[in-house]
Amino acid sequence: MAGSGHREGSLEAPTRHPLNWKDSTFHDEDDLFAELERVYDICHGCRRCVSLCNAFPTLFDLVDESDTMEVDGVAKDDYWKVVDHCYLCDLCYLTKCPYVPPHEWNVDFPHLMLRAKAVHFKKHGTSVRNRMLSNTDLVGRIGSIPVISQGINAANNSKPVRKLMQAVGGVHSEATLPRFESNTFRKHFQANDSLQADPGERTRGKVAIFATCYCNVNEPHINDDLVAVLEHNRIPVTMAPKERCCGMPKLELGDLEAVARAKDVNIPQLAKLVDEGWDIVGAVPSCVLMFKQELPLMFPDDEDVRKVQEAIYDPFEYLMLRHREGKLRTDFNQTLGKVAYHVACHQRVQKIGMKTRDVLQLIPKTEVVPVERCSGHDGTYAVKKEFHEISMKIARPVVNRVKEAHADHYTSDCPMAGHQIENGLRDGSKPEHPLSLLRKAYGI
Ligand code: SF4
Ligand code: SF4
Repeated sequence: MAGSGHREGSLEAPTRHPLNWKDSTFHDEDDLFAELERVYDICHGCRRCVSLCNAFPTLFDLVDESDTMEVDGVAKDDYWKVVDHCYLCDLCYLTKCPYVPPHEWNVDFPHLMLRAKAVHFKKHGTSVRNRMLSNTDLVGRIGSIPVISQGINAANNSKPVRKLMQAVGGVHSEATLPRFESNTFRKHFQANDSLQADPGERTRGKVAIFATCYCNVNEPHINDDLVAVLEHNRIPVTMAPKERCCGMPKLELGDLEAVARAKDVNIPQLAKLVDEGWDIVGAVPSCVLMFKQELPLMFPDDEDVRKVQEAIYDPFEYLMLRHREGKLRTDFNQTLGKVAYHVACHQRVQKIGMKTRDVLQLIPKTEVVPVERCSGHDGTYAVKKEFHEISMKIARPVVNRVKEAHADHYTSDCPMAGHQIENGLRDGSKPEHPLSLLRKAYGI
């Protein structure tokens, strides 16, 4: 075990290092494997993360079944098996690891996995299926053509077609696949030009929505609910004239050049909106995290990236700020009762606290029961043939907590996690997004 005798933990706040993906050593396989061996060895001696996901059990099984029962007994080729199971939720870094920087052991497990994915992608590319699943811009554009959206939605509900998709396309037949709407958010959004911004101490009182691929094409009603809630609070709303995927699905594949291309489209437009006085809000935690954390770590010297980082908010973070500024309406006319609330990993990583719970609890006679565990969805992990069953196993404790809550509603800030819970419950109930619940409580 590496470095026994070193102090455990650190009193200083964690500092995440930039990704350094342009450095010559970043894509050097020997250098990567040396770092993987170093960190795997620390993890083997620690094992705190065993219950978080399937990456750690995979690593520990490999070690325990090796001849030496140490990391040096694990075949280098098998290192990739650990990498494959990491979907970059960041929970190990955020909630468990005492060895994150500035600790001298400098363990950033998710970013090491990301580096490994990037090295693998650069050398081997990826499958057609993975390219399709991560190309949310293209799939969204095609899937929102009216006749095609009907066809896809029908096919997704057809058992024989789903069996075929599993056999040929590697998409698990039991995975919940998103619906496609031809009337996308970007097609139907209309700004209410009569509203005037009312700035607070921190918020500027007018919001540009980053529509997100998912809430543009798959569940535009979530963005509609966001607009309704903001406008009910007299906040003018707009959106960027053009938008690409935030890049998170490409990041998870290790395709960093594709992330950079998406950033080159999104950042100038969003930075311009910030210059014009708009705050930015996105309804999918992973997309907001991309702008708050991943892009700033990939492009630490980019002034516009930093500008967007400082101006982008989770919707409930924004609403709670408005509440603190005395500018949030609390004239709710419906109660929600009991709400089982799954706290999405990529929202936890934003370190904003449980702002969704805090806002929902402003609603009279509303009790929010938080469930702080990973749902195992990750956007694409749960739909892949080889990972679906494991993803449902990861989801099981969340599903059980939701069941035990006997709540009137269940919800997650991540719409895909909501559907993962629905898939685990299989009782005909549907998740409701927290923005939809808030809109319901306002009675608007
Ligand atoms: S980032 Fe998430 S999925 Fe990856 S190893 Fe850590 S806990 Fe597991
Ligand atoms: S990531 Fe950190 S906490 Fe988790 S097993 Fe490795 S060393 Fe331990």
